[in-house]
Amino acid sequence: MKTLRQVASFCGLSGPSVSIRKLADKVSNYEQPISLRKLLDKGSKRTWSAVLLKVTVILTSKKDGSQPLYEIVNGKVIPKTPYLRSLTRHPTLDDNFIKDWINLANRQLESAGCNFGLDNQDIRYVFENNDAMNTLDGGKEADNDAIRKEIQKRVDDPTNKDFYHRVVLLYRWGGGKYPDSPAGQSYTALDSPLIILNPYRQSPIISDGENYGLGDSQLTHEFGHFMSLNHTFASFAGSLAEMAELKDKTGIKRNPLYLPLLKSNLNKMNGVTEAELLATKMKAEQLLGQKYLNEFDGDSYDVTDTPIDLWLGFPLIWGYNACSTDKFVQVDAKDGKAWIPINRDVRNNIMSYWTCFPLDQFFSPQQVMRMEKHLENNRSQLKSNGRTIAILEIA
Ligand SMILES: [Zn+2]
Repeated sequence: MKTLRQVASFCGLSGPSVSIRKLADKVSNYEQPISLRKLLDKGSKRTWSAVLLKVTVILTSKKDGSQPLYEIVNGKVIPKTPYLRSLTRHPTLDDNFIKDWINLANRQLESAGCNFGLDNQDIRYVFENNDAMNTLDGGKEADNDAIRKEIQKRVDDPTNKDFYHRVVLLYRWGGGKYPDSPAGQSYTALDSPLIILNPYRQSPIISDGENYGLGDSQLTHEFGHFMSLNHTFASFAGSLAEMAELKDKTGIKRNPLYLPLLKSNLNKMNGVTEAELLATKMKAEQLLGQKYLNEFDGDSYDVTDTPIDLWLGFPLIWGYNACSTDKFVQVDAKDGKAWIPINRDVRNNIMSYWTCFPLDQFFSPQQVMRMEKHLENNRSQLKSNGRTIAILEIA
């Protein structure tokens, strides 16, 4: 049984991954309109349509106008400072990068065969000079609840055309340190009327010694929570990832490149010995040995077609590259043996935290079904206010 609090987990690293060069190669595809061309069950002939949900974007600054995240120039949203945009994807200030996020989410929802998406033709932008909204962080429950109630009032008010029956994205500064990660983490609760987002992060995400992308799938991931999905990874997966960092006593990572814990990589780790690598693996084995098999799969209670997910700490500790390995590894749990996958199915699920290949991330069929049911049963007002598009016969 999961509590709502667990569902509303923080999503700091839920983004992306693909090296910046690889990412840039695919950027030209981002602006393609939704076409619903890809279906999971290729070969069957069926009628397909999607509802695009209307979106309102709240752009925050503090009450006195300081810490503004964005501004609109000639009708376009642009980052207010160069720190708050993806330098790879937005080399000039003319780009509407919020629309880019929405377009990417639509591509990923479409690829998964979802019957809904976000309307990129009818985005409303609302400025809020509000200290609490601007600094909101997932951990401040009082602020969070107050803002949630405030937004709920607006989305339920038929006279409030900017908000009525719309998906609300709130971009805020948050508690992170400027300029590295000014906005901290994203945060979305299952029953919340809004999705709280950070802007693009500038800190590169590292795996297997490579710099990866900058958070591009963050909106898609948060929207997954908004549509009732939980994380795929085990609750203790973060502990394994921390072990793989091999921090020293002052908290400095001695494996900052997130390399597999192998003797051959010791020269790229700061002062780590072979004995420490072995000790780390033993510690990890002990941790897994204390867990029951049903704890290995973070979302097993609501979807069964996503694999066991121990996140990237597991392959690194066992000596495998996180982003390029394709195998199963057997480990001992408290009540039996488990086969842990290290492959595309586990690392590319949108609802996990792996940082590999954001443009190839996907939802599983059961995740899609769960989201569609949630839209039908719990967020039907958004659907009724949406725009139905493209009824296609697909052979
Ligand atoms: Zn998340």
